[in-house]
Order: sequence, then C-alpha cells, then structure tokens
Amino acid sequence: MSSEPVEQCDVAVVGGGILGLAVARELSARRPQASICVLERERELGTHQTGHNSGVIHAGVYYVPGSLKAQLCVAGARELYEYCERKGIASERCGKVIVATDRSELERLDELERRGRANGVPGLRRIDADGIAELEPHATGIDGLHSPGTGIADFPAVALAYAGDVQEAGGSIATGCEVRGISVNGRALRISHSRGVTEARNAVFCAGAWADRLAVEAGADPDPRIVPFRGAYLRLRPERRGLVRSLIYPVPDPSLPFLGVHLTKHIDGEVLVGPTALMAGARDAYRLSRVRRRDVTDTLAWPGTWRMLARWWRTGITELSHAAMRSAFVRAAARYVPELRSEDVEPSFAGVRAQALARDGKLVDDFVFSHTERALHVRNAPSPAATSSLAIARYVAHEAERAFA
Ligand SMILES: Cc1cc2nc3c(=O)[nH]c(=O)nc-3n(C[C@H](O)[C@H](O)[C@H](O)COP(=O)(O)OP(=O)(O)OC[C@H]3O[C@@H](n4cnc5c(N)ncnc54)[C@H](O)[C@@H]3O)c2cc1C
Repeated sequence: MSSEPVEQCDVAVVGGGILGLAVARELSARRPQASICVLERERELGTHQTGHNSGVIHAGVYYVPGSLKAQLCVAGARELYEYCERKGIASERCGKVIVATDRSELERLDELERRGRANGVPGLRRIDADGIAELEPHATGIDGLHSPGTGIADFPAVALAYAGDVQEAGGSIATGCEVRGISVNGRALRISHSRGVTEARNAVFCAGAWADRLAVEAGADPDPRIVPFRGAYLRLRPERRGLVRSLIYPVPDPSLPFLGVHLTKHIDGEVLVGPTALMAGARDAYRLSRVRRRDVTDTLAWPGTWRMLARWWRTGITELSHAAMRSAFVRAAARYVPELRSEDVEPSFAGVRAQALARDGKLVDDFVFSHTERALHVRNAPSPAATSSLAIARYVAHEAERAFA
C-alpha cells in the first residue's frame, strides 16, 4: 500500500492514523485535481491510537451540547455506520447501558440524559433496575440510560479503507516516513522526513500523541502539551463472555470523563474490561516498562503536569492501584457485574491516550484545531475521534480550504 514519498504536492497530511487518512480522503474527494500525500512514521497504518482502543462507536451522550465533540460525534457515528455497511467492514449497533449503582450518581445520570437529548442521540431512554437486567442479565444498578445507537466497529479496517479511497482518488501514502523538520520556504512548506524532503503548498498535521511536537516545530504555541496516559485492558476468558451482552459503562465524572472501567464487547467477539489510565513514561508505552527520556522530560517540564497532579493525585492513586493489582481492577468492574471474579479475566492489550494538557493544568476535553503558516494542526483528538473521523475530516477540510485559500 505504501509508495515512495513524493517530492512535491499540493497538500501533505502528516500521520496515517484514522484521522489523517480520513482527512486525506476528504481532501481528495473535494479537490480531485489536487495532489495529496500522506506521510506516516510507522511501517503500517493505524498502529497507534487507531489500533489500540475500545472499538466503540459512541452515540454522543456525554458531550457538552454545542461542543465540537457533541456535533461531530453524532454526525460522525451516523456516517461511520453507513460507511462500514457500504464497504463491508464489521460493525454492529449493539447498544450500551450506562449504569448508576448508588443514589449519589443520579444527579450526574440526569445531566447525561439532558446532554444526550440536547445532542440528539437517537433512541436514548431512561431505564430502571429491571430495564438494566433485561438488557444485561448479569449487570446490576439502580437506574440507567440505554443508548441503542451506540455500537462497535473495526477501526483499523476503517482506517485501511480510508487509505484505499485516498489511493483510488490518486493520492499517495508513504509509510516509514517520520517527519522531523518543518519550515516555510517561499510559497511552500519544506517537510523533512526520514526518507528525504517533501515540498507541499500546505499541510495538515494529524500526529496523535506527537501532535504538539510537530505543531511547535511548525511555529505554534506549545500550549497544550500532549501527556501520554496508558490504558491497559483485561479480557474475559472465552467461557465467561456470556457475562456481558453489549457495552456496560459507569456514570462518568464530568471533570474526568475518560476515566471509569467499562465492559465492552469487541468486534472480534472478545469482551474487554478496562481501560486503566496511568500517566506513561513514553508516548508509545504499549509495554509498561517502556520509558523514553524525551517523553518523560516533556511531561515533567510542563507546568500543567504539576498543576494537574496537585488537583488529581487521589484519583491517580486509585488508577495506580487498578494498574498494579488485578483484583482492584476487577473489583471496580464487579460493581456493575457482581459475578465477575479475578479468575474470569486475563491480560489483554494496552493503548496510549494522547491527552492534551493545558499550561494551567486542565485536561483539554474538546477537539482542538489550530493554524500555523500554510498548515493546520489537529492538537487534541481524544475519544470519540475515531467514531467522529468522517465528520472531523469534513470540518478540517472546510477549515483548510478557508485557511489555505
Ligand atoms: C485506550 C483508548 C481507548 C479509546 N476508545 C475509543 C473508542 O472506543 N471510540 C472512539 O471513537 N475513540 C476511542 N479512542 C480514541 C481514538 O482511538 C483516537 O481518538 C483516534 O484513534 C485518533 O486518531 P489519530 O489518527 O488522531 O491518532 P493515531 O491513530 O494515534 O495516529 C497518529 C499517527 O501519526 C503518526 N505520526 C506521529 N508523529 C509522526 C511524524 N513525526 N511523522 C509521521 N507520522 C507521525 C503516528 O505514527 C500515528 O500513526 C480511544 C483511545 C484510546 C487510547
């Protein structure tokens, strides 16, 4: 699938994850005359966040009404189901239940219901304890929300299909091509990479966990910085998969919406439990032991890191216990599925979340896009960016057309 990196093109898209490929696809479809090339660091496409996540097509329940996440998730989910159907990619509207296990969570559940309705989440309904048991016979809770439009998909296959569309439209994709330097050279951007130099009239950067570094290299503000959080999963042993029919989620804390162990059926039939969320020693810390000096220095030298830690150290300790002790991790999940025992699970894969952290210590929640000369940068694209990829691509292409005109 990979070709030689081109020496010149109209638009270079840096990053061959689901977003970079979706953006390249959208640009190729809008401007068939333009030459588009994708430059990806790894040998394969979609190897980072795109290939290491929960695989859930979110319906848009959680997000603040009016935010980019809310707008782009609801539209993106609808388009993604249609795309998967058209391309024969595995996906399933299996539905999800969000479960409140005690009364202290009810106010937050009310707020989620309000947000979900404001965002136009299809089919969202409140359910009681019997309703939860009907949908998920092994789960318990006192109140809940059912989102029948939430589902699962094979995101790596989606990314590869986007890549196929780019190539069919005449675009090129070069892998093993790490971008190392960016400068403006008259009427073009000079992008130096591990396989030479590409001169592009414009560029869109979708570099996930490395987004801040490339943005700063292109002249952008260092705020926000990416801080990597490792998310490890367990999986149910095959004979215990019957404990979960579809997707079981906790009521999230609105200040830390990405936290909370969930139980999710995966498109390949496995049932995942997780993920944990532990600040990591590398932006590619798929192994816990992987530590990169530059990544650690970047995290520790950022004032936002210390401000975040001062605020959230208690939560950090809970997450640490989930990561260190399987029994604590399983206990957190057993709040929702009480029959779950440590013997029912085995270790699975880990992903690394590219979390943008502001200088003031706030975890940036919404999608963030910014500009430098001749370039547009995706600075924060956490979950549900895989779900929203087609809608984000449309948004980015529209912004790019305005900025590059
Ligand atoms: C644990 C976890 C669970 C998640 N669960 C879900 C979910 O259920 N549903 C959902 O919608 N989303 C989920 N997400 C979020 C989703 O996976 C991401 O939002 C999405 O994959 C982002 O895509 P991306 O293309 O921006 O990033 P990535 O897939 O990380 O791609 C970025 C690419 O840029 C490349 N790159 C970086 N630097 C350079 C360089 N210098 N030169 C060239 N290339 C470079 C990288 O190699 C990489 O391929 C989850 C994420 C994690 C981590």
